[in-house]
Amino acid sequence: MKPKRTGAQVTTLRRFVAPSLLFAHINRTVAGIRHVTFYFQSTTLTFTPPWSTCMTCDTPNYVLHSATYKQAMELRPNLAVLPWGATEAHGYHLPYGTDVEEAAALGERAVARANESGCRCVLLPAVPFGANHTQLYQVATINMRARTQHAVLDDVADSLVRQGIDRLVLLNFHGGNEFKPMIRDVMLGHPIFIVQVSGWNLADVSDLLTDPGGDHANEFETSIMLHLRPHWVRMADAGEGRATPSRLPALSSTPGVWAPRDWRSATEDTGLGDPRSATAEKGMAIMERFVNALAPVLVELAGARAGDFPFVIS
Ligand SMILES: [Zn+2]
Repeated sequence: MKPKRTGAQVTTLRRFVAPSLLFAHINRTVAGIRHVTFYFQSTTLTFTPPWSTCMTCDTPNYVLHSATYKQAMELRPNLAVLPWGATEAHGYHLPYGTDVEEAAALGERAVARANESGCRCVLLPAVPFGANHTQLYQVATINMRARTQHAVLDDVADSLVRQGIDRLVLLNFHGGNEFKPMIRDVMLGHPIFIVQVSGWNLADVSDLLTDPGGDHANEFETSIMLHLRPHWVRMADAGEGRATPSRLPALSSTPGVWAPRDWRSATEDTGLGDPRSATAEKGMAIMERFVNALAPVLVELAGARAGDFPFVIS
C-alpha cells in the first residue's frame, strides 16, 4: 500500500462533507485502485470500489498475522521485520499497548512501501512484552527479562533461517529494550543478519512538536496514537507528565553515564513530557517521516547480496 494523500479531493471533502476528515490513503496496484481508506478524527472507513481487483484487501500478503500460507508462498520473503514493543502504563491517557501499536504500524507502512519497489519483506506479529523491571508497581505492566527476550529472538531467527529468510530487522519502539548483545549472540548461532532499529530515533521530528521534551506518553507519543488509534486515547485524563527533578545531577546528566530510572519516583502519572499539545496531524507527519527513513533501509537490505559489506553472514 502506497500512502497517498488525495490532496484537493480531501480538502473538498473536509470543507463540505466531513470536517473531521484528516486524510485519505489510496491503496493501488498497477491494475488499479484496490481500496481507499479515510481517516477521521475518531474513526477510519475503508471503501472498496466494486471494480476493485483485490479480493483480500484487508489481508495484504506481507502482514503475516492476517496472511494465509498461500499468500506467504506467493510472497516468498527473504527479509522479515519483527516489531517489538512493551506492555506498560502510558500516562493516564494512552493504552498499555502504545509501543506495540507504534512498532507494528511503522513496520506495516515501511514494509508496504519497500514491497512496492519490488522487495519481498514480511511483517511478523509484534512481540508485546518489553524490559519494564522498574515499572512493576503499575497494575498489569508486564516485564520480559533480557534472557527471555534473547530466547524469543533466538527461536525466531532459528525458524526464519530454515525457510531461507536470512535477514531480520528488529523494529523496537520501547526505550527500555536493548538488543545489541542479543543480536551478536544470536548471529553467532545462526546464519542470519540482524539489524536493530529504534523506531523513535529514525528521524528528527522536534520541529513538528510544540514541546519535544520527555520520552514517555509525551506530545510525541500521544500525537502518534491520536493518528493511529484516536478512539483509544483519552485526552481528558491526560496528566502533565512532569518529571521529578534530580537530586543527583552529575549522575543524571553526565554524558555517557546511565542508570535505571525508578519510574515510581521519576513521575507521578507514569508519563514524562507534557502530552497536551498533541494532535493527530502531528502524529501523521511523524509517522510519514519515520516511514520515509525506514523504507530505504529495508529496500537496501532486501536487495543486498551476501558479502556486500556490511551484509556479511558468517
Ligand atoms: Zn511508549
